[in-house]
Amino acid sequence: MTVREIVKRFTFIEIFQGMALTLRKMFSHAVTIQYPKERRHIAPGFRGQHALAKSQGQAKCVGCGLCATICPSQCISITRAKGQVEKYEVDILRCIYCGFCVEACPYGAIVLTENYEYSVYRKEDLLLKKEMLLASWDKYMPGTKGDEYFRKFWRPMSEDFGTPSGQAVSRGKKP
Ligand code: SF4
Ligand code: SF4
Repeated sequence: MTVREIVKRFTFIEIFQGMALTLRKMFSHAVTIQYPKERRHIAPGFRGQHALAKSQGQAKCVGCGLCATICPSQCISITRAKGQVEKYEVDILRCIYCGFCVEACPYGAIVLTENYEYSVYRKEDLLLKKEMLLASWDKYMPGTKGDEYFRKFWRPMSEDFGTPSGQAVSRGKKP
């Protein structure tokens, strides 16, 4: 046993250090919050529950399947019929919230909202269907929030590919 260990053992210094720490914490601000009465501030760009975007009341998704193809968890399932998106489902139990689906979508038709409160009693309820995803857009991306979401967190956007001013461009032959 070293001298240091002998001193520690006979002076009870660690007990006093622990009690001092407890005493200090008793008078400092609590870090726990009283959920659900109190909520944490959600960081900008937080990736929560999915939603299908709408434009003028209509779903923007055309069912091209790019999101499902790129999804590393293979948790998006899409079926098209008669030129319409018949089924769009996301199994959020398998989702890893990578955001690839949002990046891959050429229409800005899928988003990850700030909602993190979707615990349920039945796991089947975590298979989000098209109607639920569209309703989430209305609920969590009201007004201009959806546009701001894309503008702030997802680049490049189509406007990033504009021709620089002064660059020579071919306008084709005049008829
Ligand atoms: S966030 Fe990632 S894992 Fe989740 S659905 Fe989109 S692509 Fe798939
Ligand atoms: S969400 Fe986007 S990428 Fe996915 S099917 Fe719809 S339009 Fe295509």
